[in-house]
Parts: sequence; C-alpha cells; structure tokens
Amino acid sequence: MKFGNKFKAITFSFDDGNLDDIRLVSLLNKYGLKSTFNLNSGKLSQDNCWTFRDTKLVQHINYTEHPHLYDGHEVACHSYTHPHLEQMERQAVDNQIRLDKKILECLYGYPIRGMAYPYGTYNDTVLEILRENGIEYSRVVKATHSFELPDSLLEWKPTCHFMAPSIRGLAEEFVNCKADQPMLFYIWGHSYELMTEEDWQQFAAFCQFIAHREDICYCTNIEVVDYMKA
Ligand SMILES: [Zn+2]
Repeated sequence: MKFGNKFKAITFSFDDGNLDDIRLVSLLNKYGLKSTFNLNSGKLSQDNCWTFRDTKLVQHINYTEHPHLYDGHEVACHSYTHPHLEQMERQAVDNQIRLDKKILECLYGYPIRGMAYPYGTYNDTVLEILRENGIEYSRVVKATHSFELPDSLLEWKPTCHFMAPSIRGLAEEFVNCKADQPMLFYIWGHSYELMTEEDWQQFAAFCQFIAHREDICYCTNIEVVDYMKA
C-alpha cells in the first residue's frame, strides 16, 4: 500500500473549530500541509466561547463569516455540542452524530465521513452508532509515538500531539528514514493551545521542517483512509 506513489504520509487533525484556526490554516497552506478539522456544528457561532487555561477567551468559528476557511482541507464530525458521548443514552448519541454530520454536509457540500471523539472518549454503543451513521474513522487522543497505520479506523490513535516535546525528534526520524513500507505521521491538537508568539513560531518551524519533501504525501485524514482502502 502507498499514499499515491509514496510510502510516507503526514496528516493533521485539529478539533473544535475556533477563531485561531484562521491563522493556523494560513500557516498550513503556506507550507502545503493538509489537515482535518473536527467541528461541532451546534456551536459554529460567535456566541459560543469558553476560557482556556483561565486566561484565553476562545471563540468558535462563525460559519457565515468564514465559509471558505477550510477549503482544501477536510471537515469532519466532532459531535453536535461536544458532550461526553459515552455517558449518554443511545438515542442522544445518535442525535449528536446524525445532526452534526447532516449539518456539516449541508454547510460544506460534501459527504462527511470522519470524526474525532469529543474528549477522546467512547464506548461500544458509540462505536456501533458511528458505524450506523456511515462514519468511517474516528480519532482518539492517546498517542502512539510511532508511524504505524491504525489497526482500527474507529479507534485511530495519532502519532503525537502538536505541542508534545517529542515532536521534533519524531519529525527528524520520520524525515530522515528511508521507507520501504507505509509510514504515517499523524499529528493532532487545537489551534487555541497556541497561546504565545513563541508557540506559533515553534509550530511554524516544525511545519517548515516537514514541508515540501519529495518522498512525503501531505493529506487529510480521509485521504489516508482512501489510500488504505484502495
Ligand atoms: Zn473537542
């Protein structure tokens, strides 16, 4: 199996759809990197904000103001209102997934096939409901620190968080190795976790380091899935 004609692929996954995504997307675009953005369609409005680490006011993206923000990337589900799905009744979980998928499909105009679990948590009932709703993959938060393809697409573990101290070492290992089998570097996070200019500069340096490599395919999560299923 290859990603196009390459053994190596890099994909990103960012959650919650907040205003910092604007700067993040422009950074990813600058370096030709592709991401999946996991959105709560019930919260895509400026009225919805929350505080991060007691200091930073985070606002959700207002779809009407930024309809083309995620063009060239993938939009995926993150549930309608970001609850703990594993603590809910079956019907309520179904509503959370069905509604989110349907609204995002109406807004963005293409089939929504993926998801990331709010809080990274789920149970067997949640898995079942995802299958019933045609969700093909869903990301958890536990990192593997490896480049293996997922065993289970509905419990897809990323390589690492985008601000993990280990990320630079992983990037060097990934970039420098000669691959003769598929290797996936899967990075996840939230743009609002970038709190300072230094944080942004550090992440920009990481993007610059991994970008524009001839032997790496830069793709969204669903593109990885399509390569795997091809
Ligand atoms: Zn979230």
